[in-house]
Amino acid sequence: MKKIIFSFLICTFLLCQENRPHGSQYKLPELTPNNLLMGYLNENRSSYRVSFYDINIDFDLENKSINGFVTIKAESLNDLRKLQIDLAENLNISRISYKDIDLDFSREYDAVLIDFPDDIKKGAIFEFTVFYNGIPQDADNPPWAGGFTWSKDKEERDWIAVSCEGEGARIWWPNKDHITAEGDSVKMSYTVPNSMVAVGNGKLTNVFSDNDKTTYEWFVRNPINNYNISVQIGNYVAVQDTFIKNGDVHIMDHYVLDYNSELASNYFPQSKEIIRFYEKYFGDYQWYDDGYKLVEVPYLGMEHQSAVTYGNGFSIYNGVRSDSWPMYGVIDPLIIHETGHEWFGNSVTASDPTHIWIHEGLQVYSEAIYFEDKFNSYEVGVHYLNSIKNRIVNKIPIVGNENENHWALHGDTYMKGAWVMHTLRNVINDDKIWFEILKEFMIENAKGFANTRDFFDKVNEKTQMDYWYFAEQYFYTPHQPILEYYQTNSEFFYKWKDVNENFTMPLDLLVNGAKKRIFPMKEYQSISINKHSQIEVMDWNFYVGQIEKK
Ligand SMILES: [Zn+2]
Repeated sequence: MKKIIFSFLICTFLLCQENRPHGSQYKLPELTPNNLLMGYLNENRSSYRVSFYDINIDFDLENKSINGFVTIKAESLNDLRKLQIDLAENLNISRISYKDIDLDFSREYDAVLIDFPDDIKKGAIFEFTVFYNGIPQDADNPPWAGGFTWSKDKEERDWIAVSCEGEGARIWWPNKDHITAEGDSVKMSYTVPNSMVAVGNGKLTNVFSDNDKTTYEWFVRNPINNYNISVQIGNYVAVQDTFIKNGDVHIMDHYVLDYNSELASNYFPQSKEIIRFYEKYFGDYQWYDDGYKLVEVPYLGMEHQSAVTYGNGFSIYNGVRSDSWPMYGVIDPLIIHETGHEWFGNSVTASDPTHIWIHEGLQVYSEAIYFEDKFNSYEVGVHYLNSIKNRIVNKIPIVGNENENHWALHGDTYMKGAWVMHTLRNVINDDKIWFEILKEFMIENAKGFANTRDFFDKVNEKTQMDYWYFAEQYFYTPHQPILEYYQTNSEFFYKWKDVNENFTMPLDLLVNGAKKRIFPMKEYQSISINKHSQIEVMDWNFYVGQIEKK
């Protein structure tokens, strides 16, 4: 039975990779007019920055509809009279108000162009409110193909959650839907039937009832990606835990369905070990003032900042990605993956979604480091990486074009991204420097944005070498470098094949069991060897292909 469930999960994963709206494994997405409107910071978007979102939504569970208003507080970065916000075109806008007047607006795909009656001067702080309603899109296959999941719990009671990475928060509330447009803080007021509890991000600040409805107010004190803002509605209870750091006691209030509270109270404390691991290697958790909680959901899970969602069945044997996870049986793969995103993605956010390997590739790589640390064994980390290696397809580059709303959430971003990091560690060949690179990159960009160039600037600074050639090959082409080689009685000949002109990556061989570093180029070179030498490419340390020329 376990095996059947497990293969189902794997299939789901593979299937989902193809179903992502922006994440095919085999071809880059087309640049549609809507993706240009969403992906590019045109003049109607770059002219202002959002400082605060006040989100108010009343949920009609029976009709699967929402009715709400969002006040957007912003600062003008130049004189402006028009600006763009974003809301899925299937949702209706009843009016947009500003200083007691209703503003004119027009809609183009998911963009909403708002006209103000007078110039808003550069540096002004202003706010406007969007009143809207409608039936938000269903999630086809959450979290990979997102939207709302309207589900029932085991007792046939309503259980609802939203996930929208890639689709964008605009599928359920109006916002400036670009990955770099994080509000400095966000208030969420969710109104639900009295019998239900609505859980958002950050901390619960207020609960009040009016007739048959109850409103839950949540507040996030930190910058947060729009797609991380979430709502979960169910028959939840809070499961309290504490996290002690440097003598400070931090409260953790996990939210689970009432019948799972005992199970969760014994199971969720593992998240503290995960937080300690990430703090050791990648710097402090950034959201202590917003807390940390796990929220049970009717789909696998998602990295919703300070409200990580969980739906992996309370079992460290429920693998989500590969058979290496249940094999080790030491940690819930979903909790470590989504909690790790508090660092990779939530704290350090890609400056364009095409660089999203900074979220996913680094995240999967960090899981290998977790196993290496946990078992104090480099080999276990390599074993983990080997178990995901055959998922790599090398059809499209990990990094595509910027400004095109290309959420590069395909399999190579995860698996190859992790292998590229593992390879880079072995190329640099100095673990002290390597772990300093990772930690400094995360600390220096905490609560900020970074792209592939930024990561390699850190690599180059720390190594005093120029590794951009490495990035160009592994991130900007789909091609895996291939070592072509042959052997005579006295020499081993080798060269790189399928590589960029400037690709000069060193590579380690085992020659009769002894490590030997070579520096292949595009033309053949050779090293002297003894007759009948046994030579092995160390492809457990380097992501390279091999062709033996007969
Ligand atoms: Zn992820």
